[in-house]
Amino acid sequence: MFSDGRSKRVIFIAHCLLNQNAISDGTAVYPAAFRGLIDALLIEDIGIVQLPCPELCCLGLDRGNVRGAESPVTAENTRIRREMESGTTCEALSRLVEYAMRQILEYNKHGFELVGIIGANRSPNCGVETTSENGEETSGMGIFMEKISHRLTEENIDVPMVGIKSENDIAEKLLRIIGR
Ligand code: SF4
Repeated sequence: MFSDGRSKRVIFIAHCLLNQNAISDGTAVYPAAFRGLIDALLIEDIGIVQLPCPELCCLGLDRGNVRGAESPVTAENTRIRREMESGTTCEALSRLVEYAMRQILEYNKHGFELVGIIGANRSPNCGVETTSENGEETSGMGIFMEKISHRLTEENIDVPMVGIKSENDIAEKLLRIIGR
């Protein structure tokens, strides 16, 4: 008889935590991935679902650079936030949210444990605890994560959300969601 070896535990992570190549020019922390995060999740037998990168899908890989600004990263992130909120881009973003929700709802329906959602703090789209607005890093969610959070509330599904910015954050953030 075939035995199903699945852990039935899944976590959703921001695309660039597994693929840094999607990120804006000049902002990658690692060459390929947050290796410490991926290793820690696999050690716990948690299946990793890579969310789509909203900026790559809606704006493309070349998202431009703000040069000469006092804080180029947050200034660029603020410009990207404005672009993501504009008409057709916003519609494309909503479709990506529904693509993610389709998977979340399906796992939930079949009794899988939704361990959490891990975003990328400071991002105008994928930040969870911090995002970028008016040229600075500020508390609050990015647009993509905020939309997912609203949809989870609408569906009455409780999934813990945390954000990370470097490998230094990982242990504390994982403890919050895995150890709860
Ligand atoms: S933080 Fe989100 S939008 Fe930015 S590169 Fe990563 S996945 Fe894409």
